[in-house]
Amino acid sequence: MGGGAANFLPKGANGSKRRDDSDYVTKFRDDGYAVATTAAEMNDAAKRSDRLLGLFNNGNMDGVLDRKYLKGGTVKKFPEQPDLTEQVTAALDVLSRNPRGFFLMVESGLIDKYTHALDMERAVYDTIMLDNVVKLARDWAKARGDDTLILVVADHNHPISLIGTINDDMTQTPNVPLRERIGTYDKAGFPNYPPPDKDGYPPRVDVSRRLAIFSASSPDYYETFRPKLDDPNEPTVTGSAKGTYEANERYRAMPGAMLRLGNLPKYMNASVHSGEDVILTAIGPGSERVHGQIENTEVFRIMAEALGLGHGE
Ligand SMILES: [Zn+2]
Repeated sequence: MGGGAANFLPKGANGSKRRDDSDYVTKFRDDGYAVATTAAEMNDAAKRSDRLLGLFNNGNMDGVLDRKYLKGGTVKKFPEQPDLTEQVTAALDVLSRNPRGFFLMVESGLIDKYTHALDMERAVYDTIMLDNVVKLARDWAKARGDDTLILVVADHNHPISLIGTINDDMTQTPNVPLRERIGTYDKAGFPNYPPPDKDGYPPRVDVSRRLAIFSASSPDYYETFRPKLDDPNEPTVTGSAKGTYEANERYRAMPGAMLRLGNLPKYMNASVHSGEDVILTAIGPGSERVHGQIENTEVFRIMAEALGLGHGE
């Protein structure tokens, strides 16, 4: 389940990115899969099918900030994309019908993509969505007793950190650069997002004391110090020299925006991953093997053993 329908459709079909005539939607159908393109179709299929393919967007799905609140990105074109919590509920319904057990991989993949694009608000909202999914999975496992291993891990880091708040009400052209309105240490104060709604999200991001999250890696780009309320951030555009990128002039005129010279080569159009160890948390049978510092390949063995595969130790 996810986006990327363009890669499943044969050449010539509306929205296809394929260069051949393979029709993967038909192949899946022929193999007994129910195919869903909206949340309603997914929920319906999950009730009756034991195989389910969900393709909810031609490209990447939209993140939760656009789907639920701002309606930017491709939400108007694909208005019925399910939330990750709904997808996981459907997946658990379908997979748990198998008496031999199952493996389910869930990714809140836009956390990464938004962070590449230096769109920190959207990345944070999709992190809250992942948190909701972890809660959902834990409640589901708890209701079954103690037969489900849940692992939560990142596949890599981004070099970003919360360093304080941005203090600006977004209503007037500031007479000082917005950079001077970043509060650090005791000047940061607490952000003033409205209380979270029932799903855990602040219903507004354009508040006057906002999280200041910056990346330590970037191409040249215009830092606007404010959430992008129309569409997800696009920090760069194709440069004049082949294979290069430059700052997107679209943000230049935003009040308080400043050109920030990057530390990445010109062939990079976005922020990059970083090499720290990542956090792995676990609950359920086999989780006792998760402690201290372990190699990433060990995660595979922990999962294989929980599923009763192979020869064990
Ligand atoms: Zn990435």
